[in-house]
Amino acid sequence: MIMRLTSQLRSRLTVCGCLLLPLVAAAAEFQVGFATADITPPAGWRRAGGFSEFIIEAGGDPLLTKAMALTQGETVVALVGNDLCSVPRELTDRARKRASEQTGIPFANIVITATHTHGGPEYYGPLRDFLHARAKQENGGRDPHEPLDYHALLVERWAGVITQAFAARQPATLAVVVPQAQGLAFNRRFLMRDGSTGWNPGKLNTNIFRPLGPTDPDLPFVLVRDAASGRPLGSLTVFAMHTAIYGDAPFGACYPGHLQTHLRRLLDAPDFVSIFGEGCAGDVNHIDVSSPDPQDRRSYPAVVGGKLAETLQEALPLARPIRNDHLALRSTTIHSPVTPLSEAEYVAAKKIMETLDQNGAPFLTVVDAWRKMFRHEYWQKHGGRLPQEIQAIRLDRDTAIVTLPHEVFVELGLAIKSASPFRTTIVISLANDLDFYIPTRRAFEEGNYEPNTCPLEPGCGELLVQAAVTLLNELKCAAAPRSGHGRK
Ligand SMILES: [Zn+2]
Repeated sequence: MIMRLTSQLRSRLTVCGCLLLPLVAAAAEFQVGFATADITPPAGWRRAGGFSEFIIEAGGDPLLTKAMALTQGETVVALVGNDLCSVPRELTDRARKRASEQTGIPFANIVITATHTHGGPEYYGPLRDFLHARAKQENGGRDPHEPLDYHALLVERWAGVITQAFAARQPATLAVVVPQAQGLAFNRRFLMRDGSTGWNPGKLNTNIFRPLGPTDPDLPFVLVRDAASGRPLGSLTVFAMHTAIYGDAPFGACYPGHLQTHLRRLLDAPDFVSIFGEGCAGDVNHIDVSSPDPQDRRSYPAVVGGKLAETLQEALPLARPIRNDHLALRSTTIHSPVTPLSEAEYVAAKKIMETLDQNGAPFLTVVDAWRKMFRHEYWQKHGGRLPQEIQAIRLDRDTAIVTLPHEVFVELGLAIKSASPFRTTIVISLANDLDFYIPTRRAFEEGNYEPNTCPLEPGCGELLVQAAVTLLNELKCAAAPRSGHGRK
């Protein structure tokens, strides 16, 4: 029930300039549905997460796409997690449009993210484009490493899981808890004793002076249960640590895959769907340089998945129920300046990419060439201003989720959390677009790997923070939307 308010009452209900209309509206229950689908490409595909060709042979974990559709009254939100290194805007746009047509969920209320597993396929971007073109040239117009149209497959599966999750909605309760997972994540950028900026400088390196940035040990967990029986249905977990432990051999979902296995066992729920979002972990990974422990690429993901699940299990009795009648979403698109490049720079960079694995170019030169391909593309397509979408979802008056594109530095995620008016703010990166880094302005000056991947101008990270905090402030007191989709 939305009452007509007298101006006197209206002014009494106004806090920080906004009207608390949803507080007088009738309560509406959460309805939540989950769905998953397999997105494992055929064996022989290229692996993602590097700057050279690496073929993945048969075997490994199935790679999954997992969707959660969440409705309350007329508001619908769909969140999709993927065992992929990243998701490109071109494909997420297509899938969101298709899913929107099939379900009535507004395009803006759909988020498609990647866990950033380095055990996923390379299927998009300048590295793939050059390897793919070269293979076609050498094999009579056919790339033996891409026997099917993986782009079409992803669009179909993403739209499919959103539609299925939407159809599977049932009355549900939500609860949130944010324990801390200590001792697992480390900032991987260092001030070295010689004054240089170190990046993954290696274990027990005596030239390390100190880390250049913090970590974020928060492990937010949103648990969804069947409203009638209390049976656990699925969850969203976010952790700010690179999903890049695994990456040698067959396909692998890395530690988020093990997290799901452990949660299913601990919660005694064999069909439980654990969606994982990488937090702001652009400069954070699992490598503990202070310890000689090898942290094996094959066995350590299971250790991390197990530790995260144990931490969540211990924290679960402290979970706070998400209250009803506040689900809302706001989104915005900012246009971030792309660094200009000359024709000569583009030609030189293209040459490096075309002769990859053969030209002996140093690592950072290859990385720089890779980002120049993006700069060229973004100047051609967007006139030098890259559209970046930011979404903010309010679960209740105390809990919000922010989604950001790309791999955002941990300092920027922490800045959003500390400026947020919500008690609990969950920040997910790698949403709806690709995996270059978004460093802080300071990190651009410090240099080394991550700033060297970024096609945007210094200050791009601070722009994202500003936009996210603006959305959160709007959402804190906005009325829950009463319309937005046609079907229930
Ligand atoms: Zn990364």
